[in-house]
Amino acid sequence: MNDDEPVSVSCPNCGKEVQWSADSGFRPFCGERCRLIDLGEWAAERYRVPGEPSSPPGKPDSEPLQ
Ligand SMILES: [Zn+2]
Repeated sequence: MNDDEPVSVSCPNCGKEVQWSADSGFRPFCGERCRLIDLGEWAAERYRVPGEPSSPPGKPDSEPLQ
């Protein structure tokens, strides 16, 4: 066991190395800013009005109707 070795991950938003410890309250993000940015983009992506024919038919998040 290598408990001494610090575990680090890459911030999903900016790619910065983040220490995976109890001190990193925003992990896996490097900070609150990146966390908010990522959540914001995720929400924007999710709630974007479908206007472009880029999504394939049969969304994976919708159950097929019988
Ligand atoms: Zn970041």
